[in-house]
Amino acid sequence: MTPGPPLLVEAAPVYAAELRRHLDEFAPDLALIVESLRIVKRCICSQESCASFHSLTLPEGSTHSDIGSWLGDGFLDLGVITEQGNRQIAFVDLTGRPDLRKELDDGLRQLR
Ligand SMILES: [Zn+2]
Repeated sequence: MTPGPPLLVEAAPVYAAELRRHLDEFAPDLALIVESLRIVKRCICSQESCASFHSLTLPEGSTHSDIGSWLGDGFLDLGVITEQGNRQIAFVDLTGRPDLRKELDDGLRQLR
């Protein structure tokens, strides 16, 4: 296993693959970095269908833009920041996908 917070692709490969395919269509630069997304902090809400997480620790006062779209039956909101001209995914907000939430829960438990 790679050191540092768990990689999304290691914890939840189905989730990662769906996200990558989805982004391929309209944000290929972001699709490329799905492989390197780390689960720095899970969302702490109690919704059973929420599979949201932070992939970067946002510097205080930093600004991000939101990219919203449907992902299957769920709604995806990506928080995107630009660092040295490159777009980075700061957080992945995904609600309405209990299947991916479960994959994430199970995967993280196994990695621990
Ligand atoms: Zn949540």
